[in-house]
Amino acid sequence: MHHPTHRTVDVAGDVPYAITIGPGLLDAAHPDNVKRLATVLRGRHALIVSDSHVAPLYAERAAALLHAAKPQLTLSRWVMPAGEQEKTLARFAECLDALAALGATRDATVLALGGGVVGDLAGFAAACWMRGIDCVQVPTTLLAMVDSSVGGKTAVDLPQGKNLVGAFHPPRAVIADTTVLRTLPDRELRAGLAEVVKYGALFDAHFLVWLEAHADALLARDDAALAEAIARCCEFKADVVARDPYEHGQRALLNFGHTFGHAIEAEQGYAGVGRDALNHGEAVAIGMVLAARLSTLLDLAPADHGDRLQDLLLRFGLPTRLPGGLDARALIARMRLDKKADAHGLRFVLWERPGSAHVVSGVGEEAVRAVFDAAAG
Ligand code: NAD
Ligand code: MG
Repeated sequence: MHHPTHRTVDVAGDVPYAITIGPGLLDAAHPDNVKRLATVLRGRHALIVSDSHVAPLYAERAAALLHAAKPQLTLSRWVMPAGEQEKTLARFAECLDALAALGATRDATVLALGGGVVGDLAGFAAACWMRGIDCVQVPTTLLAMVDSSVGGKTAVDLPQGKNLVGAFHPPRAVIADTTVLRTLPDRELRAGLAEVVKYGALFDAHFLVWLEAHADALLARDDAALAEAIARCCEFKADVVARDPYEHGQRALLNFGHTFGHAIEAEQGYAGVGRDALNHGEAVAIGMVLAARLSTLLDLAPADHGDRLQDLLLRFGLPTRLPGGLDARALIARMRLDKKADAHGLRFVLWERPGSAHVVSGVGEEAVRAVFDAAAG
């Protein structure tokens, strides 16, 4: 049975794979869902990797689907505590222990069921176990569906910094069931929407117009609207990744809003903002508005593009102004340390207009300072 809201995006590369998007994809009662998984399961072993929030909600569904796809499968689960602070080498080692306990052979499959934390850690475990086994990504956050599950980057954090240890290991398949987004906390949904807006800003003015028209449907978690938005984002990301699989050029565009965003995230951590801290998507939302303002200050883009971007982010309930307590000088010092800075100044992804962005090096600190001052809120 073909569901009208199901979408497929093919990702090209050394090992091509398909992203399937739509409501009910984890439902074992649908033969298409069973067949989709059966075709990618090669061996006799599978490990479901999930976290303490997602496993109680969806691990049973994933296990039933795996069993339907391959009744003779030896299946086990490893569940990590939820949260970025758990994306560690120690948890990674525990995940490898679970693969060892399962007796996973080289044809085993890891099924990553969760947000980007689970996807990154499980993907890295799959990349390393016996020098690489299959990973099927089953993203359960909007951010994971539009970003982390696509493109093959996997990693864990070190105390010294985020994502410092990892590998490129593309998944065998990505299965994005939009119905699981119904249990996602509002704030996590909005964080994902920030990255969705980013794709529109970078690649397609029409998509931004579509987002304006469908903002309410997306916030209401309408399956058809979500599937459409996710598919569009995956197409954009798949296209960039196919042209620059190892992040030597093009792929840097995906950092629109992220130079500012990372500085904000790092500085608020340092400032001990704690429970009220902005999450990644919120920091990126502010970062994109700042990048648009900087583009205007440098005479690259008219101000009204930034105004419209800001209005859209506000409709999605995202912050667009710098939180109080963050010092412009400290933020600029953070950006200087960013790997995107070089001897000639700071580096940003800037735009002329929606759909036309590029990397600009050698941006002077006075301009950045002026943008911060104007955005203090
Ligand atoms: P996350 O995995 O921590 O998930 C956010 C929260 O939502 C967690 O508490 C989680 O347990 C919960 N959750 C997940 N799905 C749920 C559901 N359906 N219902 C209820 N609760 C649910 O965070 P994230 O935002 O998905 O991912 C962030 C991570 O992704 C970061 O570690 C980041 O480095 C990584 N990332 C990787 C890439 C990449 O290319 N590999 C790209 C972007 C981000
Ligand atoms: Mg991001």
